[in-house]
Amino acid sequence: MRISIKLKFSLFLAALLILAVGVLSYFVLRGVERNELSQTEHNLAQHVNTVNLRVKQTYYTGARLTPQVFMQQRGKALAAELAGFTGLEVTLYDSQGQQAGTSAGGPGPGPGKPDLSTALDYALNNKVAYQSEGDKLFYLAPLQGPEGQMGVVQLQYSLEGARSFQQTLLNLFLTTGGVVLVFSFILGYLYFNRAAASIGRLKKAAEDIRGANYITAPPVRRKDELGELAEGIYFMSREIERSIAAKDEERRKLELAVEKLQALEQQQKQYIGNISHEFKTPLTSIKAYVDLLNMYDDDPKLLHDAKLSIAKETERLYEMVEKVLQLTALEKYDFESQAELLEVESTLRDICGRMKGKAERYGLTVRLDAQPAHIWIDRESFMHIFINLLDNAIKYNVPQGSVHLYSEVRDQRVWITVQDSGIGIPEASREKIFEAFYTVNRDRSRASGGTGLGLSLVRNLVEKQGGTIALLEGSGEGAAFELSFPLVT
Ligand code: ADP
Repeated sequence: MRISIKLKFSLFLAALLILAVGVLSYFVLRGVERNELSQTEHNLAQHVNTVNLRVKQTYYTGARLTPQVFMQQRGKALAAELAGFTGLEVTLYDSQGQQAGTSAGGPGPGPGKPDLSTALDYALNNKVAYQSEGDKLFYLAPLQGPEGQMGVVQLQYSLEGARSFQQTLLNLFLTTGGVVLVFSFILGYLYFNRAAASIGRLKKAAEDIRGANYITAPPVRRKDELGELAEGIYFMSREIERSIAAKDEERRKLELAVEKLQALEQQQKQYIGNISHEFKTPLTSIKAYVDLLNMYDDDPKLLHDAKLSIAKETERLYEMVEKVLQLTALEKYDFESQAELLEVESTLRDICGRMKGKAERYGLTVRLDAQPAHIWIDRESFMHIFINLLDNAIKYNVPQGSVHLYSEVRDQRVWITVQDSGIGIPEASREKIFEAFYTVNRDRSRASGGTGLGLSLVRNLVEKQGGTIALLEGSGEGAAFELSFPLVT
């Protein structure tokens, strides 16, 4: 059976109070009883003195008799007289223990009368003795004569008054105890009700935490142990929430990493497939020429065509191998770049100069409008980036076309744009042109010695140097690539 904590506490408090009241009443009642007894003893001893005095006085003033005869002759009258003095029932015994007279009814012991022989023996031996029977106390004390003890006086004292006082006291204690019990139970119940409500709230908080509903504030605010426990539960809840969130975040990151790895693996497979495919085309062409030469080695036209074609394909293969190696180095190792302070305007001028010959061969003009700026970059990478971009701008241009290279400084960066008046990049390919081996038009690319690796390499180099590259939204004819690098201030 489940007993609630507040009922248990209330019962415990009530039991404690009953015990306290019980112990208190026991000692108080015992004290009162003892006090009354000693008071009674004192009174009775005084009465015995009075009796002794009166008996001696009567003895000496009357005719000379032996104490024995005196007691037998005068005992009865004396007992009645002494009862009048003391207000108590008095019985006198001679030195033989024979009743000499009494103020209380018939003589001697008889049926319905208490047996006082033991107390009487004591008193005959010159000692005080008392015996209580019902609500009566019999007090026996020696009577002193001229030559020692001459008898015994027995005083009968009613304990009724004392008993009823004690009973009243006991009733008072019982009533008080009862009232205290009821009140303490009610008060205790009300008080513990509050504490139990707090415990209930703590229990609810613990259940919430178990169900992953973390608490946002301590469930109880008290300045005692329950309050401290509530604080503890609150901090525990926050810690659990935090560590679970951290674990979730870690798991999410791991899942992301796994996803990335899987994508990378897929990319690598595709990359290797592409490389093999790209390598196969020039090799097939070379092999075909070699076979033809084996068969017709004396045909001068064939020899001429084969020489040109093999040289072109070999050049293409060489370029491809070089770019693949560069890309691999960039992705696998931290590219060995040696950053230096570079002046943008003069370097771009140098690059334009180098590409001028090729542009002229294609009948194109190259224009440069650059602002002076300094950036911190690896010179080799910078050259590579812009030579590749200019090369594309020339390759994918139209006759009598132009290439415009310009730069400006804004937002702590230098912004460089390579714009051409060429064939442009179709909307569908805008997302893909930075992927390795992607070409918009395979035949055109191949015809111009393209490999589909240039922009992939450029983007890698730009990012490694802390820059950005983007293909600008269709700005009329041609294509425009905008790059930016942080300025040295
Ligand atoms: P490729 O060696 O074929 O030039 P890139 O990676 O440099 O390879 O370029 C990828 C593709 O993007 C090219 O095949 C071409 O179709 C397209 N492309 C790059 N630059 C330009 C440009 N300036 N104008 C038009 N198309 C371009």
